[in-house]
Amino acid sequence: GADRTKNVLILMSDTGGGHRASAEAIRDAFRLEFGDEYRVFVKDLFMEHAGWPLNDMERSYKFMVKHVQLWKVAFHGTSPRWVHNFYLAAIAAFYAKKVEAGLKKYKPDIIISVHPLMQHIPLWVLKWQNLQKRVVFVTVITDLNTCHPTWFQTGVNRCYCPSEEVAKRASVDGLKPSQIRVFGLPIRPSFCRAVLVKEDLRKELEMDPKLPAVLLMGGGEGMGPVKKTAKALGESLFEKELGKPIGQLVVICGRNQTLSATLQTIQWKIPVKIKGFVTQMEKWMGACDCIITKAGPGTIAEALIRGLPIILNDFIPGQEVGNVPYVVNNGAGVFSKSSKQTASLVAQWFGPESEERKKMSQNALKLAQPDAVFDIVKDIHELAQQEGPLSQISDSLTSSFLQPI
Ligand code: UDP
Repeated sequence: GADRTKNVLILMSDTGGGHRASAEAIRDAFRLEFGDEYRVFVKDLFMEHAGWPLNDMERSYKFMVKHVQLWKVAFHGTSPRWVHNFYLAAIAAFYAKKVEAGLKKYKPDIIISVHPLMQHIPLWVLKWQNLQKRVVFVTVITDLNTCHPTWFQTGVNRCYCPSEEVAKRASVDGLKPSQIRVFGLPIRPSFCRAVLVKEDLRKELEMDPKLPAVLLMGGGEGMGPVKKTAKALGESLFEKELGKPIGQLVVICGRNQTLSATLQTIQWKIPVKIKGFVTQMEKWMGACDCIITKAGPGTIAEALIRGLPIILNDFIPGQEVGNVPYVVNNGAGVFSKSSKQTASLVAQWFGPESEERKKMSQNALKLAQPDAVFDIVKDIHELAQQEGPLSQISDSLTSSFLQPI
């Protein structure tokens, strides 16, 4: 019932910045919306409670995205259902006890998975423990379009899809309309609720107050052709005839320290800010006029909320491919693999083509779903209310809750 604080366990893995960002967004929205009604734990469950290979997921992911061919094989090679079911069955049998220990520790009333590989095992463990009726299990998908089929599991109470495209895939994979909801990608509340004035941000961030600004980044890990693009922008945003800049550049390198160190050594002719991992992304986006990024879902959704026209310059094969048409076909940006072309497009946007930039900015705002994270937690809250009588049963069983078999 409502008289008891409910436990929410969010399962994520630190692969890239996106899953953690979504997990923390949901946690913060629960706190803002429901205060003490929920106690939320964000856990890399497999990292803490299981051994290899699950605790190695982050390392293998980083290795694989660096070796793109390998990642392609891994992504497509594990797609047929029988392959991943067999693979996951083997892992599940081996780690079930440890997953149980995790469930026992956090005693969740609600489990939220924001990771493509974290539905099957927890769901199976719940089933074995006869708990699937007492624990609400939902999936929050964090890919905008082409997503890995392991996201879809028919045993969930809800599957939150960020776009209609993903919802279509979910129903092709057997989820019922009653299980599917489309609210958008969950973005940190500090981001979507922020009321920001560009002038003030420019002052706070010590940027040029007047010059149009381009933000260049590559996800949490600073991936993609960032260095090449930065150099090209250094040229294209400098007006040789007049001997002065027509724009300024902000580069956010994330956790890529080599990248930020290299960029620091360059002599720039235009105003440039080079940052490592920043915590207040909403401010940097709010201070800029367009963005260049790889097709990361988190960055795209955030840029749409800030109304930034987007130049996509890279994508991780597999799950990020579909993010490109999502942006381009909706008129919120363009795709450009050539750094030179990207740089001259920005110069156009900051010069004669400023109307084009404004139009794309409006399209971006139309596509934005700043309330998604609140819609998601409200819907989960309603689910938990429906499960009320059942969770009271689980109250009385707390002592025997999730004893290992
Ligand atoms: N991010 C951040 N600070 C940084 C770099 C990235 O907060 O210095 C955030 C960014 O705002 C976004 C997430 O990390 O929320 C990146 O997620 P995305 O899905 O774009 O790419 P990923 O890094 O997961 O591949």
